[in-house]
Amino acid sequence: MIVIMQIEEPIPKKLFKILACPICKSNFRYNKNKTKLICIKCNTAYPIENGIPVLILPEMQKQ
Ligand SMILES: [Zn+2]
Repeated sequence: MIVIMQIEEPIPKKLFKILACPICKSNFRYNKNKTKLICIKCNTAYPIENGIPVLILPEMQKQ
């Protein structure tokens, strides 16, 4: 018996569709573990915290 572990999508599909990268306004894809959003255009990664995407520019996250 094969059990496929399916990771649930952390962000509701409706919300995921309307999300846009703050840099280039493109859509996102999930990273492998679905812990981050990756911009399909500029490849910028944004963390997902408790199901909420944190769309803060990486430069600002360092502060
Ligand atoms: Zn982008």
